Amino acid sequence: MLSFFRRLRRPKPDQLPEQTLIAAPLWAEAVAALPILDGLDPGKAERLRRLATLFLRDKIFEAAGGLVLDDTIRVRIAALACLPILGLDYDWYDGWRTVVVYPGEFVRPRSAFDDIGIMHEWEEVLTGESWERGPVVLSWADVKASGQRDGYNVVIHEMAHKLDMLNGLPDGFPPLPEDLDRRAWTERFTAAFDHLNERLDRDESTAIDPYAAEEPGEFFAVLSEYFFELPHLVMTEYPAVYGLLAAFYRQDPAGRLPSCHPSLG
Ligand SMILES: [Zn+2]
Repeated sequence: MLSFFRRLRRPKPDQLPEQTLIAAPLWAEAVAALPILDGLDPGKAERLRRLATLFLRDKIFEAAGGLVLDDTIRVRIAALACLPILGLDYDWYDGWRTVVVYPGEFVRPRSAFDDIGIMHEWEEVLTGESWERGPVVLSWADVKASGQRDGYNVVIHEMAHKLDMLNGLPDGFPPLPEDLDRRAWTERFTAAFDHLNERLDRDESTAIDPYAAEEPGEFFAVLSEYFFELPHLVMTEYPAVYGLLAAFYRQDPAGRLPSCHPSLG
């Protein structure tokens, strides 16, 4: 019930008073640092600023590993985090509160029992992670490397997992709007996932990061990164997936971004 009432009290993005928005110079600094936002029409750019303002009001940022948090870091993360929900609504990010930021990669202890019952312990080095109904954890060094139109985007990756986990495990099947065919989603994503795995099994080099082939949840998250970073690549490699992602996110980044970023040659 608490979250129900909180949601009622929260203003809609377009109801936020102008003076409560992220300050114009700070916002301009974030936008200038993010080539993936190129080509947004003024209405969409303003909506993104308003969603990012809600994100900063709603989420609690925590520094870890000696990082000193500042507004540049908070606003950059908020701008990237809200791009996937630009065509949706802020309440897609309900149900969790905390964004933990490390200066760089961070280490997580892992342990598992093997087939004969011996426990193994190891450390995993991560750039980001997200917990179901729990925090999102990010490396600031990797946030800074995100949004540059090279296909890599740790914030969008983790936010895609967050959307995916709204209906349970991160399995590549987020809650779909009414007008999206669930069977088409499963069939087309499965076909693309299997195809990528077959290419990797044949030792082909692929334009898509092989990490996408790990499991369907990672495929959805990694393809979401490419969808916003290098949309024409997704259109070329997996056009059916591009169509589904465009329908899910209600955005068409290939329509607003140039097909080849100047820095890519
Ligand atoms: Zn992932």
